[in-house]
Amino acid sequence: MRRSLLLALGLLLLPLPALPRSEAAPDRGWDYVVRFDEGLTKAEVRCCFRGWLPKRIVHSFAGLHTAVTLPAVEGEARLVRRASDGSLIPQGLRRGRMCVRWTVDLTKAAGVRGGRQRPVQRVGRDVLIAPGALLFRPYLWPLDGRVTVRLELPAGMRAIVPWPAAPGENTYSLDPQCTNLLGRFAVGRFAIQRKTVAGAAVEVAVLDAPLRASQPAVCTWVHAAVEAVAGLFGRFPAAKLAALVHPSPGRDPPVLFGLAMRAGGAHVHLFVANAAADEELPGEWVGVHEMMHLGMPWTYDDEAWLQEGFVTYYQEVLRARAGMIDERQAWQNIEDGFGRGRRRGGRRSLELESRDMGREHNYHRVYWAGAAMALRIDVALRKASRGRQSLDDVIRWWHRERGGIVRPYHALELLRAADRALGTPVASKIAEGILADRAFPDVGEAYAALGLRVQAGRIELDDEAPLAAQRKAIMARRLETTSSTPR
Ligand SMILES: [Zn+2]
Repeated sequence: MRRSLLLALGLLLLPLPALPRSEAAPDRGWDYVVRFDEGLTKAEVRCCFRGWLPKRIVHSFAGLHTAVTLPAVEGEARLVRRASDGSLIPQGLRRGRMCVRWTVDLTKAAGVRGGRQRPVQRVGRDVLIAPGALLFRPYLWPLDGRVTVRLELPAGMRAIVPWPAAPGENTYSLDPQCTNLLGRFAVGRFAIQRKTVAGAAVEVAVLDAPLRASQPAVCTWVHAAVEAVAGLFGRFPAAKLAALVHPSPGRDPPVLFGLAMRAGGAHVHLFVANAAADEELPGEWVGVHEMMHLGMPWTYDDEAWLQEGFVTYYQEVLRARAGMIDERQAWQNIEDGFGRGRRRGGRRSLELESRDMGREHNYHRVYWAGAAMALRIDVALRKASRGRQSLDDVIRWWHRERGGIVRPYHALELLRAADRALGTPVASKIAEGILADRAFPDVGEAYAALGLRVQAGRIELDDEAPLAAQRKAIMARRLETTSSTPR
């Protein structure tokens, strides 16, 4: 199905508060050590606290109690379970350190399916793990806390993780969102291909399942998508990217779907059709779509029209700019998408359709109506500013000023802020009109201005139209980012 599942950035499994920064404690935090066995059947976790002791410890993954042992405190102290919310309260602690141990049965956890995220998933001999499934954590995560995890792997095994490296072998830094937003890492016997692309340390691993496409072709495809997205921002919008490539049954389309995630660091999970050939991967849309999410601000799930709509518009724009498709093909793809959006849905306002998208699966309507909104805002900005401003400026401003994942933003709040920042207030007014409308957004005026004509479903380009130069500018090829971006 032509969609990418998700709003990964906005999925809160369990919203946990964070403590304000404190001046008093220079080094407080905790360190996990996770030891995997040879068969990847279990993970033994030890967690020691430094400089402070938590009042409560929680496990943020519901439904896993049969697979996770209760943590045991080393020494005299013990943990008492609080009946109201299941959190664990340390009792009888002496001053200083506290270390806690528990074990996660990965085989049992792989059998738990409930909710929107599978805690553990086997792919051949490899295993995909949601960090939240593995780790107990303090209920309050101090923002000044330094938290690390060290993975102890059997010989010959590797881990591909989104987390930034910390001093020590297989040791990484964790951030407060790493367990309560959607995220995953993989452990197994795969190779990890590493390369710096457009300013980002990109790691690619193909999980253990049959795949016709070659590893070099998979890497070339991932790197091209990174470059395409970097073209908008000047460099890739994250310092590190982990790409988990997951071969899955299929042939066409070459990439079945994908997920973009930022919990703990930027990562993508890409489901590649196992019968797709090398030459079918370059220029396909899912890779560019997912990586574009990593440059967008964090928004609420029930406002997918902005997150998914704008990313859907840019999946075509950025592929044209990267030379993966030509200008006419990009507009054709957009027109075809609008056609799907018009056919499926339209009985209720876009605002309500977005709110219920996860339940009603009206993805085409929400994604493509949002893309139509993006097009109209882009055209209105270019027209009002005589070509000096565009939607690119909005996206780049958001990335600079509203990037990071400290908190999610309301979509209209983002558009209003961009209106103020650019001094050309067109975006929020267009959005408010479209959101309240049951009909698919009208793009007739924008098409006429740009010189886009539809003849029997086929897009034709008219260079005499008043904004024909802007139409070309939207899709115009950009300079290679590798040569223009300082490292
Ligand atoms: Zn998406």
